[in-house]
Order: sequence, then structure tokens, then C-alpha cells
Amino acid sequence: MSLPPGSTIGILGGGQLGRMMALSAARLGYKCHILDPHEHPCAAEVSAQFTRAAFDDAEALKRFADACDVITYEFENIPVAPLTVLGPKLVPGTRSLEVAQDRGNEKRFLESCGVRVAPWREVDGDGDIVAALEALGSPILLKSRRYGYDGKGQAWVQRADEAAAAWEAIGRQPAVAEARMIFDAEFSVILARGRSGDTAAFPLTRNHHDGGILRTSTVPAGPAIDAMANEAIAAAGAIEEALDHVGVLTVEFFACADGPIVNEIAPRVHNSGHWTIEGAHTSQFEQHLRAILGLPLGDPSLVSASATMENLIGPEVERWLDYVSEPGADLHLYGKGEARPGRKMGHVTRLR
Ligand code: AMP
Repeated sequence: MSLPPGSTIGILGGGQLGRMMALSAARLGYKCHILDPHEHPCAAEVSAQFTRAAFDDAEALKRFADACDVITYEFENIPVAPLTVLGPKLVPGTRSLEVAQDRGNEKRFLESCGVRVAPWREVDGDGDIVAALEALGSPILLKSRRYGYDGKGQAWVQRADEAAAAWEAIGRQPAVAEARMIFDAEFSVILARGRSGDTAAFPLTRNHHDGGILRTSTVPAGPAIDAMANEAIAAAGAIEEALDHVGVLTVEFFACADGPIVNEIAPRVHNSGHWTIEGAHTSQFEQHLRAILGLPLGDPSLVSASATMENLIGPEVERWLDYVSEPGADLHLYGKGEARPGRKMGHVTRLR
């Protein structure tokens, strides 16, 4: 079954990922309907319809399901139980959400797929932090199980006497502790899986983070990372198959001396795939839409020798005129109001 142009795609979440997905949908003649609790989500500005509602508002979700032909999501921190009213219209399904929104579930699931992750322990109090230090060695990185993104809800712990303060720092909430991984670089695999189980991987993307926030993504990722492509893409494929995931899924890796280690997964399009808008024959947004609409997957290969994406974070966006004046730079602004520190306001892509 494929949904024809003119159909309505519902998107749970109205941030920049939803915005870029809606722009891509419009180009193919589809309409988007955003559901988001905020007053002016930036995706709603470029979409045919917008419902302002909480993600767990059962009545609103039911009306949303009636109004859409297929429904997807652009971020994973959505309560799962109320989504059952969406039935099979929700693609990918709730399983991908459930696994990705809790780091403990995610790690257990990844291990069950035979994928390598950093040694880890569950943490439910400062006593567990001390035990994790003993088991994993120093230092460890404490990460809240839920609602963590861009390095939020995280704390490094070196010694047992720091355990209580670290537990406070992450808000005394269920967490995981990870051993510190020594890696040469970080990279991501963005893999689409269609309704019949066909897959297409974008070229591996090298990612540079600062303070837990993605700064730049570069393709090709370089020979050392590309040498890990087969293993990393196979791992991403095993994850998608085990989730029966339809759509784009992103797997973030550490490139360690003894091979790739999975850091985390996102059951959706991803910041590290923004370069694909200009840099790949089919963008990650169109690829996700193709998968959920039941269309053939597009060509994920690079259109040029290389692509680099630079995020514009917080006040960096004030330099927009420099970027718009730079030959060969493709500027994307998300139409967000206030340029708060750490907030992703836009990005620039350069092809060479
Ligand atoms: P995360 O929110 O899990 O993506 O972590 C944010 C960033 O912290 C990652 O992109 C890494 O740069 C770093 N990081 C996360 N986990 C580890 C780890 N186990 N060892 C070393 N660095 C890490």
C-alpha cells in the first residue's frame, strides 16, 4: 500500500525536525498536520494544519488520527500508552519509542540484538553510583534514563565521595552509569527501512560534539570510520529489524580502537543527517516520508565529494547575514523566536 500525494501526514512534535520534514512533504505534494503542546511550534509555520494539544490528550489524539492518513514522530519523549488510539496509522510504532526513550531499556535491548555498548549499570540512588564506580572503574558518566538530550541530565563521577552530589545534579532520577569510552571519533549511521523490510543507509557521518551538543557533521567520515561501515550498518540493520521499525532510524557510535560501540539510538531523523538536504540525492526527511508512505526508498548517496553541516546554536544565529552572503553555503533557519544559549536555531551546509 502506498499513500498518494494529497494525503495528510501527521507529525507528533513541532520542532525543527518536523519543520524540515513538512517542507520535504510539501515538495512531494503531501500535506502535514502538526500536533504539539506549544503555542507556536516552528513546524506549524510551514504545515497545512496544527493542533495544539498535550501528547497524552486522548480526545485530541483521536481527532488527530481521524484527520491524518499516516502519523509519525519527530522526537521520542512522548508518553507511549495514550498513543494506542492512533492504531496502525502510527509509523514507526510504539516499540521504537519505548526502547529509545529509556536508556536502561535501550541498553538491554541493544545487548539483546548482539550490538556492543559501553559497560553500564543501572542507578537508582547514590549507593548504586559507588557500586558502579567499583564495577566499571573511574570515571563513569551518569545519564538520566529518561528525558535526556544534548548532554542534559548527565554528570561525570570520578570518586565515591562525589556520588551524592552527582545524584543531586541529575535530579535524583533513575539513571544509568557508563564506563568512559576511549574513542578516536564519533559517527552516526542513518538507516531507512521501508514497509517491506528493504533498507538504505546514508554514508557514515562523522560528528563533533561540544558540551554534549552536536557542532558539526562531516561526510565522508574518513578512512578510519569508513572501515567500520559494514559492521556499523549491520548493527543498525539488526536494531531496525528487531524493532520492526519502518522509517529512518539513527544510531550514534563511538569509533573505538577495537571497532564501533553504540552510544545511543534515535528512532527518527537526526541532526547529524541535516547535510543530506543538499548533500544526498534523497534527504533523510524525504527518505523517512518515503518509508512511512510505502514509496520506494530513494538514493542516499552523496551528490558531491563532501558535505559539512555546522549547527547555529543560541546567539550564533545572529551571524545569519554572513552565512547568507557566503558563496556555496546553504543556510537553514528554523524560525524560532528567542536565541537562548544551547538552543538549536539553524544550520549551514557546505558542499565541496
Ligand atoms: P549522549 O547524550 O549519550 O549522546 O552523550 C553526549 C556526549 O557525551 C556524546 O556525544 C559523547 O561525546 C559523550 N559521551 C557519552 N557517553 C560517553 C561515554 N560512555 N564515554 C565517553 N564519552 C561519552
